[in-house]
Amino acid sequence: MLQSIKSLIPLKLKINLYYQMIRLRGALDKGNNVECNICGSHFSRFSDFGSRPSVLCPTCFSLERHRLQFAYLTQHSGIFTDALKVLHFAPEKCLHEKISQNKKLEYETADLLIQFIDIIEVKPKHQMSITDIKFPDNHFDIILCNHVLEHVPDDKKAMTELLRVLKPGGFGILQVPINLKSDDIQEDMSLSTADRAKYYGSPDHLRFYAEKGYMQRLREAGFQVESNPFAQTLDMDRLCLMKTENLIIVRK
Ligand SMILES: [Zn+2]
Repeated sequence: MLQSIKSLIPLKLKINLYYQMIRLRGALDKGNNVECNICGSHFSRFSDFGSRPSVLCPTCFSLERHRLQFAYLTQHSGIFTDALKVLHFAPEKCLHEKISQNKKLEYETADLLIQFIDIIEVKPKHQMSITDIKFPDNHFDIILCNHVLEHVPDDKKAMTELLRVLKPGGFGILQVPINLKSDDIQEDMSLSTADRAKYYGSPDHLRFYAEKGYMQRLREAGFQVESNPFAQTLDMDRLCLMKTENLIIVRK
């Protein structure tokens, strides 16, 4: 009976309820062992997310990668203070709330899908494909595009488009899930969704990047690429960062 009632609740509502519960549960984790640098909250521990213990901020729902990027952007960009042009694909709410406070920015947000989960995502300003970006050449100072390219059938075309709209001297952060056990990108378009979940980590992932192969593909698109171990300059335990996550930073 309970199962049949659950199946009647729309997915969007289920996800919203899930995050509401995380927020309520977070109130029980009062303490100061861990800190979210984005919203300033601190707890005895963060909430669990999937199989990862203590990674999700119960206040702003940041994950490891968001806190890592926020720290980098704070220290190494003028995104929170300067008059820059920023393109943010699939904008995450926790980062969007902070970036959008800088009224000097031209801050463009975009996604192919206009459906969004309002508790963790933001309705993008522009509905467009990353393989056909509706902005002129050499336009943006900063591009943020995280956990997007693994969903895009023609990721090489997407990389070419990102390069095209980036200004010379600008930079992008292009995080993707990385397979630490390989140097080569695993990519088989004929896989079933079940096999994608099994081998690529999610039914809607079209490939599993390896760092070496991913950086090579970005270089072939024309970017200068660095794998930046910036996390090692931070208090990884307090911010609950992923110890193996480097920032993939591209420049033109
Ligand atoms: Zn937070």
